[in-house]
Amino acid sequence: MNKWIKIIAILMVIGIFLAACTSEPEQIEVTRVVEVEVTRIVEVEASTAADSGEETNDSSEEDSDESAFEQPSFETVEVADGLYSFGNGEVFGAFMVTDEGVIVMDSVNAIFATQMRLAIMSVTDQPIRYLIYSHNHWDHIAGGQVFKDEGAIVLAHRDIHNWLMNHPAPNPDVVIPDETWDGERHDVVLGGKTVELYHFGPSHGEGMTVFRFPEENSIFIVDIVVPERVGFPYMPDFTPRGWIATLYAIEELEYENVMFAHNAAFGPRSAVTEQREFLEDLTNELFAMMERGENPFEVFGNPNAIELPKYQDWAGYDVWLGLNAQRILLEMIMGH
Ligand SMILES: [Zn+2]
Repeated sequence: MNKWIKIIAILMVIGIFLAACTSEPEQIEVTRVVEVEVTRIVEVEASTAADSGEETNDSSEEDSDESAFEQPSFETVEVADGLYSFGNGEVFGAFMVTDEGVIVMDSVNAIFATQMRLAIMSVTDQPIRYLIYSHNHWDHIAGGQVFKDEGAIVLAHRDIHNWLMNHPAPNPDVVIPDETWDGERHDVVLGGKTVELYHFGPSHGEGMTVFRFPEENSIFIVDIVVPERVGFPYMPDFTPRGWIATLYAIEELEYENVMFAHNAAFGPRSAVTEQREFLEDLTNELFAMMERGENPFEVFGNPNAIELPKYQDWAGYDVWLGLNAQRILLEMIMGH
């Protein structure tokens, strides 16, 4: 065992050094064809905040440099009656329209939230009543002031609220939740429609919330299910064993459509099972390497030391698989 610990320590240092030297991978593209019926697609032209109607200031005419940047193309997809995915192909939020107002899930950032507000206006004149956070990470929950300014209640799991309140360097663009919910389940009912909020324990970040829409036969899952993509590089803030347990719990719920936050607006429920099987297959392969007399910790020095051909067509496979293995090995030896 002492030999293993020495090997682990040495390879960890080598792996950390190599990871620091690794350049940013190319943007991943997913060509998956989603086979779920889309009832309606509403195209929303991308525009700057200044284009939204409000006069800003004289500098707008001088902002010709903006043309040098390609504006992301935002798209709104009605996944079920009154339930929408909204995003730019890289990140997605969601909203549900009811007769008494709109429930928004994740604001992402100020530009995203402004575009999302315009998209909502294109399908309803109902006010935003709730903004609900999926988890604590800033890349999904900044920009909420856009909705709070018009009176929306910002709601989040207590673990999210606590993390935001205790962060040593808070992000000023993240609105602190007005209300919290606690435990494993909370329902938000508005205008005769229901959003069920589930928290199944540690998986990714704090207070990870899975949204279920019972009448729409759909769920919205952020970060912990990304279709046909291996884990995000070194699986930051993921706890692999809790992640697997959470996916098993999600598989127990009833739903047909899965709305994602990355790579695709939505897809079939099999995406949840495929995500869970990938994590289990990767974990099992590490044990199999040990049984074959190979040293799985080689992935710290050479991320290509592990192969999982079943997933070779998934996005990120060539660059990220070894990094995913590192995260799982670290949880094995650190417990977290
Ligand atoms: Zn996250």
